[in-house]
Amino acid sequence: MKKTVYEMVTKEVKEKISELITCDECGAVIKDWKHYEVTTHHSDWGNDSIDSYENLDLCSKECLIKNMKEYFESSNGSEEYNIENNRMKNWIEEETK
Ligand SMILES: [Zn+2]
Repeated sequence: MKKTVYEMVTKEVKEKISELITCDECGAVIKDWKHYEVTTHHSDWGNDSIDSYENLDLCSKECLIKNMKEYFESSNGSEEYNIENNRMKNWIEEETK
């Protein structure tokens, strides 16, 4: 019986670790599924630009705007900032209510 309890606890802990997403801008733990998933990349390094791909999780519109602003401030002109479509749909719906 003890073993069963231990396995259950371990499974629960593992699930919690895999669910934990933090904001790449402010570091807050993201609990809401309605966060913003962003992919950034640029073409500055020719063929090596594949290494410039970054996946970001951002907790709020404020963090998204701050992050986007900082990203383009350091831009050399070839940067791309892709925001996951579903999240943008939510944002647009909220803004146009
Ligand atoms: Zn944040």
